[in-house]
Amino acid sequence: MNDWRIFTDTSRIAYFSMEIGLATEMPTYSGGLGILAGDTIRSAADLKLPLVAVTLVSRKGYFRQTFSADGWQQEQPVDWRPEDFFELLPGKVVVSIDSRDVKVQAWLYRVSSPAGGEIPVLFLDTDIPGNLPEDRAITDYLYGGDNAYRLKQEIVLGIGGARLLRTLNFQIRKYHLNEGHASLLTLELLNHFRRRFHATWEDRDSWDLRSVQESCVFTTHTPVEAGHDRFDYELVQKIMGEVVPLGLLKELAGLKELNMTLLALNLSRYINGVAKKHGEVSKELFPGFEIHAITNGVHAFTWTSPYIMAVFDKFLPGWANEPELLVRVDNIPDQEIWDAHYGAKAYLFQYIEEVTGIKYDPDILTIGFARRATAYKRAKMIFTDPDRLLQIGRGKLQLVFAGKAHPHDDHGKKMIQDIQKLAATFGDAIKLVYLPNYNMDVASRLIPGVDVWLNNPLRPLEASGTSGMKAALNGVPNFSVLDGWWIEGHIEGVTGWSIGPPPTDASAEVNHTDEDADDLYHKLETVIIPLFYQDRPGWIHVMKNAIGKNAYYFNTHVMMRRYVTEAYIR
Ligand SMILES: *Cc1c(COP(=O)(O)O)cnc(C)c1O
Repeated sequence: MNDWRIFTDTSRIAYFSMEIGLATEMPTYSGGLGILAGDTIRSAADLKLPLVAVTLVSRKGYFRQTFSADGWQQEQPVDWRPEDFFELLPGKVVVSIDSRDVKVQAWLYRVSSPAGGEIPVLFLDTDIPGNLPEDRAITDYLYGGDNAYRLKQEIVLGIGGARLLRTLNFQIRKYHLNEGHASLLTLELLNHFRRRFHATWEDRDSWDLRSVQESCVFTTHTPVEAGHDRFDYELVQKIMGEVVPLGLLKELAGLKELNMTLLALNLSRYINGVAKKHGEVSKELFPGFEIHAITNGVHAFTWTSPYIMAVFDKFLPGWANEPELLVRVDNIPDQEIWDAHYGAKAYLFQYIEEVTGIKYDPDILTIGFARRATAYKRAKMIFTDPDRLLQIGRGKLQLVFAGKAHPHDDHGKKMIQDIQKLAATFGDAIKLVYLPNYNMDVASRLIPGVDVWLNNPLRPLEASGTSGMKAALNGVPNFSVLDGWWIEGHIEGVTGWSIGPPPTDASAEVNHTDEDADDLYHKLETVIIPLFYQDRPGWIHVMKNAIGKNAYYFNTHVMMRRYVTEAYIR
């Protein structure tokens, strides 16, 4: 293996993310944001982009999900040893937390591409002898603890991360903030570019805001006001002290409380949302800022099942590092696509039987739904009228669910429990399982193995959504509310199907659940079920369009080329 110092030979984009999902065995992610970060890094490696990623080590992980006998989510800490995966880098830095010096070190993980690129990923860690026990625990739990714990983590990520990069001699040409969690790094940069040693807030020309802005790219992911990290200034002063004068901080991050998003917005020259619609929504949330849109993607090679991969390799060689080639999917014979999908389906059903003891039928139309169990995702929507669902789907439908609720989200846990209770009442009429512990491995097996991928979030709360792109890659059509990426990917009856009304104006927060559910039932009964059972060539045509018109575009190779040309080198 190369000495890590070669990574410091080229100047790099520093990609900061609170969570990064690289492998199931490394539980340093919770959901879509972390998976996106992982896919970003994998595509950067394939494309040989000069990037270094920075995140937290999350020694106790997010959590492992199991269910009690009555279907209530139980959270177990994840047992893993970062030492088994990473090499410790020399050099430590110090950040001030609660007026104490807290040491931060970094572990290195290398993401290597078969195409020859390699991206260093730094996992920050405070579990160092000499730090107080409570400080050693700062990098334990992803999204665990209270607001104070969260602020400490964000100090380690933003300030500690920026200092470590400098100590290790990385040359950084741009900092990319993947969501607002790393915004405190802008304060480190303000000090770095400060023109006078003793600079006060009033002393305006001492602060070179412009140089900080030129250095930062900010991607926002949250389309609701309440979703953005904010901290009380009293807490900030107690825990962080005064990194920059308070007056300056308030001017940049909000007068009443420290709003991490506002801080990032004020100190980044390039700002983007993660789908066209999300860009619009963000403009309304933060008037006065120029906000662009770069639609998310998924890493094609990572999310294509081995069954479909074999077909792509045969008919579209080179597709993995040039997913645009998928546009030529019509060169693949129907039977080959169908057989590959059938293989992926059998592989999923084998897993379902292992985990639940329930045998699924590969000839029955199977719908999948898996994502974080949080209210706006409306996991229970298909069960709005269970009698109607039974009447439409008896003997013709199977359902597979998965997803974790945040440990503090009792509403999400109740949703999971309710779905498992419904499974008992449906019995064999419509088979229904809730698979435990949704993670990258489960997703890789689940998504390609169903026939339709269902998504019905409350508009406009799905900033982008990426699991539907994983489905499309595997020839699984989306059946989804028109929100996030699907507004761009949807052609009715061609790439999949919509649920509910067309996307209305950005600020609409009307709950259309009954209307959406009605449309869902109607299309299932009159369009999707008949097509699946009565017109197989027509069905396979939609599968191919999902690949040729969705997957060829909604991938992180395309996305990263856009970040390079529109954000990084401008
Ligand atoms: C892709 C993925 C997600 C994101 O799913 P969305 O439908 O975009 O919310 C979350 N968790 C895991 C494990 C995933 O693989």
